[in-house]
Amino acid sequence: MIRKVKGTRDILPPETQLWNEVECTALRIFGGFGYSEIRMPLLEPTELFVRTVGEGTDIVSKEMYTFTDRKGRSLTLRPEGTAGVARAFIENGLGQRPQPMRLSYHGPMFRYERMQRGRYRQFSQIGIEILGAANPAADVEVIVALHTFLAELGFDDLIIVLNNLGDPEDRERFITGLKTELTPHRGELCGDCQRRWDENPLRILDCKVPRCRELVAETTPVADVVSEDARHHVATVEAGLEAVSIPVRRAPRLVRGLDYYLRTVFEVISPELGEDTVICGGGRYDRLISDLGGAAVPGVGFAIGEDRLVDVLPQSFKDRVFDQRVVVVLPVGDAATAPATALARELVLAGVTVHTEVTGRSLKAGLKWSGKMAASAAVILGESELADGVAVIRDLDRGEQETVALVDVVSHVVELLQIQR
Ligand code: ATP
Ligand code: MG
Repeated sequence: MIRKVKGTRDILPPETQLWNEVECTALRIFGGFGYSEIRMPLLEPTELFVRTVGEGTDIVSKEMYTFTDRKGRSLTLRPEGTAGVARAFIENGLGQRPQPMRLSYHGPMFRYERMQRGRYRQFSQIGIEILGAANPAADVEVIVALHTFLAELGFDDLIIVLNNLGDPEDRERFITGLKTELTPHRGELCGDCQRRWDENPLRILDCKVPRCRELVAETTPVADVVSEDARHHVATVEAGLEAVSIPVRRAPRLVRGLDYYLRTVFEVISPELGEDTVICGGGRYDRLISDLGGAAVPGVGFAIGEDRLVDVLPQSFKDRVFDQRVVVVLPVGDAATAPATALARELVLAGVTVHTEVTGRSLKAGLKWSGKMAASAAVILGESELADGVAVIRDLDRGEQETVALVDVVSHVVELLQIQR
């Protein structure tokens, strides 16, 4: 037997219905806020991620699926979406359109990671980006859109945490200070943090090792050393969110795993998955487009981990999605096949979900199958019924049945399904 690649998943029905409904809700809510969908390739030049996500990050240093194609080009399966959005923005001249540009995307991402609950090598993200707005109002908008989306799914226990990373210049200063403060304890840091010390010292702040956490807890928070401009920016974001009663909590040690973020950074935490398995990460990235050779276009956005989101969906949402009624069409005898096919099509066009018996089962076996399929009703097309221009509609919830003229079957079924609700 050939097995799936480690870290990938088959998402089976009926769970796929949850995914579809989550994605439809995202398109509806984010679309409502003016974010239009962009579809980028899954494959990008490796250099795109090296230059944006950053060389010293976990993603670029050890998580990318990178290979050389037949012409010797280095390509990478995208590990995240923002870099591709930025590339597409520049390459397609989206800066020429009315600004700001509001974009959304969803789809698979790839990272070579240790597999565990909520951590896969192929996973999906849903994200939005607003490009061309430096104002804190844009940060507020994306967080409001995020909160609206999560509330629409029925979540009421998710926590939004936020921090101020300052500008890249502030960060240089902060890192120098951080290293000075940690130098006396450098030897006590974990092996990963020893490596981060030179490669990506900011990431020492979100190390999960208890001793590293203790040491970091004693250091000066990044938000304390940022410029007055950055301080004012994030304070305005917080005030804007408070004004619309969206609760956000300051997380003084929050940093993100990508180099391009500055000023506002935020995450969404689910109490069920815990702080180490965040649902969503985002922030501002005003230098990303210019770093890629584009104009000085500021941006802010986030990416939701769809796998993790689906894992903790509220029961109310699942009940709603799975409350789908099915009608079974049972032709009995060869002569009934064509009328059954025609009827199934009519039912589908009337909005009914139909499973037609196509394996040649007897009526008895067909009714047993209807039960296994948890069908709400069965439409039985027997030869004698067809000769009379009628069909039998059986209400499988109540075990009652009636004989109905063929022309009235669709309206009767639709009515029956409504009554059963
Ligand atoms: P983590 O700290 O959990 O590794 P991250 O900081 O690497 O997350 P981001 O790059 O910000 O994550 O991606 C945004 C979101 O995508 C995350 O909050 C998470 O929900 C989801 N995500 C990231 N990596 C994975 C993965 N390997 N499997 C499933 N979801 C993931
Ligand atoms: Mg990660």
